[in-house]
This record gives sequence, C-alpha cells and structure tokens, in this order.
Amino acid sequence: MRVDVLGVAFDNVTLDEAVDRALALLEEEGPHLAVTPNPEIVQRAAKDPEFAEILSNADLVIPDGIGVIYASKILGRPLKERVPGIDFASALLDRAAGAGKRLFLLGAAPGVAEQAAVNLRAKHPGLTVCGTHDGYFKEDGPVADAIRRAQADIVFVCLGFPKQEKWIAANGAAAGARLYIGLGGSLDVFAGKVERAPASFQRLGLEWLYRLMKEPSRIGRMAKLPLFLVSAVGARLTGRRPSAGCNQEGTG
Ligand code: UDP
Repeated sequence: MRVDVLGVAFDNVTLDEAVDRALALLEEEGPHLAVTPNPEIVQRAAKDPEFAEILSNADLVIPDGIGVIYASKILGRPLKERVPGIDFASALLDRAAGAGKRLFLLGAAPGVAEQAAVNLRAKHPGLTVCGTHDGYFKEDGPVADAIRRAQADIVFVCLGFPKQEKWIAANGAAAGARLYIGLGGSLDVFAGKVERAPASFQRLGLEWLYRLMKEPSRIGRMAKLPLFLVSAVGARLTGRRPSAGCNQEGTG
C-alpha cells in the first residue's frame, strides 16, 4: 500500500523496512528503481509528467525530507518516518556487503566517486565497489557499458534529480544491474566533500536548515518549500483526491 503525498505515491516504510525491500529486489532480475523524493522532487514531478511517471513506476519510493512527513500528516495519511536517502544507502551497504553484492558509484565531479569508494570500503568491510564514473559525461552508452562490464548489482546514481531518475529509466536495462538508487548529492557526502548536518539537527528535522546555512545559494530552491505545506493544507481542506492508481492509508 502506498501513501499519496501531493501526487507522489510513497511506500510507508521505516528505514529497516526499506532496506528489507531493497534486499528483496536484489534477489530478482532487474532493473529495479528506488527513489528518495523530498518536497522539491514532489514539486518537480507535479510539473514534469515524464518524471512523475518514472516515480510512479519505481519499485521503492522512500520519504526523504521532513516536509514529506509533515505533508502526509496534514493530509491525514501519516507516513511512519522520514528515511533520509543517505541513511538508507548506508544501511543497505551494511547488509549487502556481507552478502557479496557489487556496488557501482555513478555521479558527482571527477574524483569524487573514487574517494567515496575508498571511504565506503573502509566503513563497510567486505564491500565490493566494482566501478565508479563521474557524473559529467556526454554519452550514456559508454557509461551503461561500464556498469554492465563491472557486473554491478547495485548502482548509486547521483546526478541530481530529475536527471538521475531519467537516466536510470533510459539506461537501467542496458546497464544490467538489479537495483538503481537515485541519491542526489550523496557521493559528495560519502567522499567527505560535503558535511552532513550534526545529529542534533537531524533529530529535530532541521537538516535542511543546516544545509541552507552551509550553502546560502540554495535559498531560491528552498523558498518554494513552505508552498509545499500550503499545498498540503489546501488539498486537505478541499478534499482533493490523490492521483489515480494510488491506495490511501490512514483514515484521516
Ligand atoms: N551532478 C552530476 N552530473 C550533472 C549534474 C549534477 O554528477 O550533470 C552531481 C553534482 O556534482 C552533485 C549531485 O549531482 O554531486 C547533485 O547534488 P545536489 O545536492 O544538488 O542534489 P539533490 O540531492 O538536491 O538532488
């Protein structure tokens, strides 16, 4: 059962449940897609039907961003918890490393994925990082070939949204992996180039504020976020139904 939040249908999962589902997807032939939408992504999907379609066909849709959780509460269909994409990725690697799964890292500036690979191997003993590629390439074909040759099971695709999800939809089958996860700027964090918010900010759901303090240029992007919650209030008050094909959870 999925929960509709302003047109994107989320899996109502905890972090552990999300990892269980990802591991189950790894047991089946791919390509499978896991996405981690935050409010900005939901807003983008409302204006971009191709992107919305890709999200609705994803195998796992994880609520990243405290705004998604607040909106789900306002809409009367509360999601269980926020599952930050980067926490999901780390928890998955904890378990996949022991199971001998092969990880490919795609995205970010040249050199970042390689550094992320070094750090991830140190953090998850036994992890096989079978290849890396930066995110500033001109042609998709050679990148898909590199992933196929590396015999990857899991690919972290970190090109920013909606580019990463569109890349996976177009190239996932050719690249031959079982599970692709769109993870935005996560390679920069894994590589130690971008610092994550301290635990206290994370606990309070203020990771966005910390990011804004560190990167004030994001103010333009973030200014749209209050509108997201206003839209949720509007949808609740007018009783607008969630988009088609989506089951509701909770009673409102
Ligand atoms: N990026 C990339 N190729 C591109 C555009 C962006 O690899 O053509 C990378 C960029 O270097 C950064 C990530 O994608 O590492 C996007 O990070 P951001 O924090 O903006 O993404 P979000 O998490 O907001 O989707």
